[in-house]
Amino acid sequence: MSNSSVPESSDTESAVPDVPRDFIRDIVRDDLASGRCQTVVTRFPPEPNGYLHIGHAKSICLNFGIAKENQGRCNLRMDDTNPTKEEVEYIHAILKDVRWLISGWADSVLTLSPTPHSDPTLREDTTNLSRRPFYASDYFPQLYDYAVELIQKGHAYVCDLSAADTERFRGSTDRPGEDSPFRSRSVDENLELFARMKAGNFPDGARTLRARIDMASPNIWMRDPVLYRIRHTEHHQTGEQWCIYPMYDFAHCLSDAIEGITHSICTLEFEVHRPLYDWILNQLDLSRPLPKQYEFARLNLGYTVMSKRKLLQLVNERIVSGWDDPRMPTLAGLRRRGVTAKALRDFAYPIGVTKYNALTDVAVLEKAIRDDLNQHSLRRLAVVNPIKLILTNLTSEDRYECQATNNPEDPASGTRSIYLTRELWIEQEDFQEVPPPKFFRLRPGGEVRLKYGCIIRCDSVVKDDQGNVIEIHATADLDSRSGGPNSGRKMKGTIHWVSAQDAVQVEVRLYDRLFTEEEPEAEGRDLKTALNPHSLITRTAWVEPALASAAPDGRYQFERLGYFTLDPDSLPDRLIFNRTITLRDNWAKKQT
Ligand code: ATP
Ligand code: MG
Repeated sequence: MSNSSVPESSDTESAVPDVPRDFIRDIVRDDLASGRCQTVVTRFPPEPNGYLHIGHAKSICLNFGIAKENQGRCNLRMDDTNPTKEEVEYIHAILKDVRWLISGWADSVLTLSPTPHSDPTLREDTTNLSRRPFYASDYFPQLYDYAVELIQKGHAYVCDLSAADTERFRGSTDRPGEDSPFRSRSVDENLELFARMKAGNFPDGARTLRARIDMASPNIWMRDPVLYRIRHTEHHQTGEQWCIYPMYDFAHCLSDAIEGITHSICTLEFEVHRPLYDWILNQLDLSRPLPKQYEFARLNLGYTVMSKRKLLQLVNERIVSGWDDPRMPTLAGLRRRGVTAKALRDFAYPIGVTKYNALTDVAVLEKAIRDDLNQHSLRRLAVVNPIKLILTNLTSEDRYECQATNNPEDPASGTRSIYLTRELWIEQEDFQEVPPPKFFRLRPGGEVRLKYGCIIRCDSVVKDDQGNVIEIHATADLDSRSGGPNSGRKMKGTIHWVSAQDAVQVEVRLYDRLFTEEEPEAEGRDLKTALNPHSLITRTAWVEPALASAAPDGRYQFERLGYFTLDPDSLPDRLIFNRTITLRDNWAKKQT
């Protein structure tokens, strides 16, 4: 069975684009060549204070991608040093989303903690993670010891300045800082005070542990940064064990060192923290090679907000239905909307890794989504804005079988039977009583082809009291069906339809961009002024009977309308379809 020319890999999908080239990959290659490291170990370190978003997808594809390309490892680590903002719900969501995004692509490089779950709910996790991710909080005892080591070496001190005074003493970019009056405490006094901080002798904010570096440094982050603060808060992992918590800058570099990370890749705003990252590692007795931090520009996407704080605002203010609202740029929202993991990887993996902040055109993401769905979606007929059409030359018992193609991109998907009957639904927009020039769809006295069916001629219309057309009467040219004597008749317009006798009623949710502004997060802009009032339109639609058995993870192209998938809110007698995306970019059209 085995074929030695096929490399062993867990990949089920091979269509990941070629390996990208960028400055980080160049560094990794050089480090392997020079022997700075033998194995590449990266990490993806989300803080569990919100759901992952499409920006995180870039970081995941970069970190897991580099590990995969170099037969290395990538640790999934919860960066959980700030218990006041973190929640277990977010941990579950992050695990599920990372698993989903890398599934069939980089599962083999995902590395988890050697420590088993103590939280039974996580052990039962639906993502089947039998092991826990790494947690920065696992290292609290070690981090405490490292802090003690810094104090012993004279590199850290306990400071009694209030937060406001600490800030004031720090100075600014054009003004050097001032030494704290507590800077020259003896090692013994510092050790004792730090132990008492840990023991819970002081209230929140009373004291901090600070690095003793240089209050005149041009880099503000080197002006005796706070390493530990007092927070009498329960932690989701460590409970009430700790009332002092390490700051990001102290915990992150040391977590990297403890885990043997070789390349710690983060976003550009951490560039100014890098000297501190290196400083902390260099003061301590750590095994080599020390991890190194590299920074790249974060993903910014047009018409999208990305900061978790703002996404939380959308959730809290009920502007969206939750973190997984299909309009959210979260991985959970995109998944619910019908975007596949592969489409997201096709977008996020080859995207440029640079040092320059830029705005990525949302059309790039939308193209990746359409390309993927076009390949794999089953074509189906549905009418979302229905008007009745009567074929007056058919009786109510007539049923003419028509063959419809399931997916022209995949001949193996075959065809299915649909039936032309006397009563049909068509889209209101496909009929115009007084049509504009170049309108090739249905008009009084005009002809059009029903897709997979036959040519029909509109004979008359029925109107309501207000003069609105409520029914169209037409004659079917049954000889123009496929294989019939008139099948060769050319028509300029083809419209879609469903048999009113066979169709199933469903709800469709038509999503559009959540924001009307390309940069909704721009300085000084109130998010709410940039909201698109039409980002969700709910309709009752008629769909062909094959969709009654739609699969929860199925992807469907409703012909001429867009790509759709079932929403998990669906009930057996009330299916709900989410529109993932339209067939073409309607926004580009609007602008011309
Ligand atoms: P936010 O600013 O949205 O709160 P964050 O940076 O605090 O996000 P983390 O959970 O700390 O979010 O992020 C985990 C990792 O993902 C970090 O390494 C971070 O640099 C990276 N990351 C976050 N946002 C983006 C983005 N927009 N583009 C690329 N990488 C990102
Ligand atoms: Mg962060």
